[in-house]
Amino acid sequence: MTSSLDTTHEPTRLAINTPHRFYRGGERILAFRGLAVPEGFDGHRPEDWIASTTRLFAEGGDGITRLPDGSDLPGALAAEPTAWLGAEHVEAHGVVPGLLTKLLDSGERLPVHSHPDRSFAKAHLHCDNGKTEAWIVLEAEPGATVWLGFREEVDPDTLAELVEAQDDRLLAALNPVQVQRGDAVLVPGGQPHAIGEGILLLELQEPTDLSVMLEHERFGLEEAHAFLGLDRPLALRSVDHGPLTPSALEDLRCRWTDVKGVGPALPTGAEAYFRAQVVRPTGPSPAASVTAPAGFAVTVVVEGRGTLATEYGAASGAPIDIACGDVLLVPHGAGGVRVTGDVTVIRCMPPAGTTVA
Ligand SMILES: [Zn+2]
Repeated sequence: MTSSLDTTHEPTRLAINTPHRFYRGGERILAFRGLAVPEGFDGHRPEDWIASTTRLFAEGGDGITRLPDGSDLPGALAAEPTAWLGAEHVEAHGVVPGLLTKLLDSGERLPVHSHPDRSFAKAHLHCDNGKTEAWIVLEAEPGATVWLGFREEVDPDTLAELVEAQDDRLLAALNPVQVQRGDAVLVPGGQPHAIGEGILLLELQEPTDLSVMLEHERFGLEEAHAFLGLDRPLALRSVDHGPLTPSALEDLRCRWTDVKGVGPALPTGAEAYFRAQVVRPTGPSPAASVTAPAGFAVTVVVEGRGTLATEYGAASGAPIDIACGDVLLVPHGAGGVRVTGDVTVIRCMPPAGTTVA
C-alpha cells in the first residue's frame, strides 16, 4: 500500500465499474455519469458496482472496485480499516463495508428472481449475508413497473411447477408496482421480484451476489447458476411463498424526494441491512447548506450542483465541486460532511455499528 494516512481523510471520486451482465442496459448509467457511449459498447453493462468488495457469483467473477491510485478497495480497507470505516463499524462488522451499492439501468425487464435471507444463507451457503436489497428510483419511463412478492400464497408444489414451466405465470403471480422518480422500495431477502424495462435505480444490497433465478430459460442462464449450485427444491425453500399483502407492500415503500435537510431515503425496515440518507440543503439557494455526521458513505449526487466539504483533510479547507452524476467514496475519517448549494446527495452506508450482523 502506498497511500498515505491523509488519503483516508479525502473523498475519492470513483470511476465507472460495469461488469458484463446477461441482461441489457447501461446507457442510462453512462448518461447519468456524464459519459459518452463508448465505441463498440456491447449493451450489456447495466450495473455500475460502486465501492464494491463483492465479486459476481458467475459471469466471470468481476466486480471489485479499484481506487484511482490503482489499489483495490479490499486491500485499501485492510491497510487502514479504522480510518476508512470507523472503529465502531470495524468492531461490529469487521474490515468489510457490509454493503454493495449499484447503479442499475434496466434496458430490458429483468427475470423474476429472489435472494436468500440471512438465515438461509448461513444454513446452506456458508455465508453470513443474504441479499436484502433496496431500490431508489432515479429515473423511470412513464408507466415503468417493478414486481414484488406473490399476490396470493403459492404452495411449494405450485412454485415448483411454475419454475418448471418457465412461462409468463411467474411474473403474473407477483404484485405489479408502477414507479417514478422519487420512489424507494425495500426488497427483503426471500421476496420474489423483477425490475421492468426503462428504470435507473440506485440500489443498495447486502454484499453478496446470491440469486435464485426463478425465470432463467429465456435469459439463457445455466441451471447450476440459476439455483446457487443447490438442488432445485432446496433453493426454492429460500423463496417467500407469500402472500405479500397490500399493507405489507405499503410498509416497504416510501418517497425519498420528500426529505428536506438530512433524512432516510428508505423505509425503516432497511436499517438492519444498510442505510441510505438524503442530504438536501434547505433555505435560499445557492448559499443553503446542511451537515451530515461522519461515516463511510458511498455518496451519489442525484440532482443539481454545489459543493461538499469535510471536517478533516484537504476538503475541509477547499470544498469539492459536485454535480449530478458524481460518485464519491467518503471515508469515516473525513468527519462530518457539509453539502452546500442547490443539490441533492444520497449517502449509502452500512448498518449502524451497533446493529451486529
Ligand atoms: Zn434482486
